[in-house]
Amino acid sequence: MYSIAKKTAIFKKTAALLSLAFLLFCEGAEAGGRYVFLFIGDGMGTAQRNAAEVYLGEARRMSGDDTPRKSQLVMNSLGQEGTVSTNSLSGVTDSAAAGTALAAGRKTVNGAVGMDPKTGEKFASIARAARDMGMKVGIVSTVFLQDATPAAFYGHAAKRTDHYGLGLQLTDSGFEYFGGGGFIRPAGRDKNRRDLYEAASSKGYEVIKGVEGASSGKVMAVHPKLSGGTMPWAIDGAGGPSLADFTDLGVRLLEGESGFFMMIEGGKIDLACHANDAAAAVHEVIELDKAVARAVEFMRRRPDDTLIIVTSDHETGGMIFDAKGASGADLYRTIAGRRGSYAAFERKISPKSGAKIDQYLEMARLHFGNTVTGTPSVQKAFRLSMTARARRESMEPDYKKLYGPYDPFTMACVKESDASGGIAWTTYYHTGKDVPISAAGAGTDFSGELDNTELFEKIKTFMEGSSIR
Ligand SMILES: [Zn+2]
Repeated sequence: MYSIAKKTAIFKKTAALLSLAFLLFCEGAEAGGRYVFLFIGDGMGTAQRNAAEVYLGEARRMSGDDTPRKSQLVMNSLGQEGTVSTNSLSGVTDSAAAGTALAAGRKTVNGAVGMDPKTGEKFASIARAARDMGMKVGIVSTVFLQDATPAAFYGHAAKRTDHYGLGLQLTDSGFEYFGGGGFIRPAGRDKNRRDLYEAASSKGYEVIKGVEGASSGKVMAVHPKLSGGTMPWAIDGAGGPSLADFTDLGVRLLEGESGFFMMIEGGKIDLACHANDAAAAVHEVIELDKAVARAVEFMRRRPDDTLIIVTSDHETGGMIFDAKGASGADLYRTIAGRRGSYAAFERKISPKSGAKIDQYLEMARLHFGNTVTGTPSVQKAFRLSMTARARRESMEPDYKKLYGPYDPFTMACVKESDASGGIAWTTYYHTGKDVPISAAGAGTDFSGELDNTELFEKIKTFMEGSSIR
């Protein structure tokens, strides 16, 4: 017979063991991991999203589909809606400081990636935190992977233009997946460094073109038609895998017990908006949205463990939608009437003495639509385009303000085309406007007014939930 005291001791021991077993059981039951999709539409403000929303709505109506839908863009239907303030320590942010704020929750100066160049402090990104928790990591973009936004998730550089150094950091990151764009200047600025793709291979990355045939392990899957490490414009219809396809590949490679963090950037929205090309921008927003749709499909399978965030690093161009009260149908006609990006047209224009505008206007109408006419501003731009670059500023003192770094005739045509769809722009650069954020995820809240440094902790808390919930 045990004494009462002994019985109590045994009972206590048993209870302790049972509760330990219960805890272990719970841990085991929750070992499914967590899955984070962070979509960044570079330069994607509210007007850019609204223009894509209206364009898609009109496109559906034109095709005879009148069924009411709350929203056309998947990113507009996630449920949580808020805004994000974006200023950097330099004022209006660039992609490097904004990427750093989103990735690491820290403000820095423009041009710096993942660090404070004054103190030399390097910031740990959310992708690194995910890796430290044993999760897998994927970084996907439509632009080259050493560009500021993707680099902010794996690298540190005082100057974002240190593309070669950032490329080496990519190969050293250990992240399981890189997709979409590739390396810009893989052999360095002077083309005398070790090829970055080779460096990636030596670090265990399987480098493939397209999205087929990747084994598990570490994979770098690049679009087969890269230019400067960047994917082709969606509006130019070059074909090949889409951003959504690269997102799918990420899911295939990374899904498993340990969970994953994936950052997917629509990097060319920014490039289109820098050039004030609304049609190219809308097509890139739709590209990004198709990738978001794949994440939503994933979430149906793992509703309690998936977080989807769609936001932006800053607005570009100061896009004004419906500037002159043009209708949605006008916007649809303008965008549907476009045959390619500003960049595709610009490549055809070079100074030529004695060139006649009529022939060029015909070319412009084929590319930009019939709304392009020979207004005085188009004629003036044409004369500048046919003049050697060095002489243009003496002909037009406001040259840079009017045309930025672009071909004048192309810009004049783009602006006329955009205006016919009710779109105007205020700048060729970034603005300080807040950007929208949308999210879906059990137990998360990304609504209301946020600062770009606040995402880091929120995402981290969600990721930590995999073991403490
Ligand atoms: Zn940016």
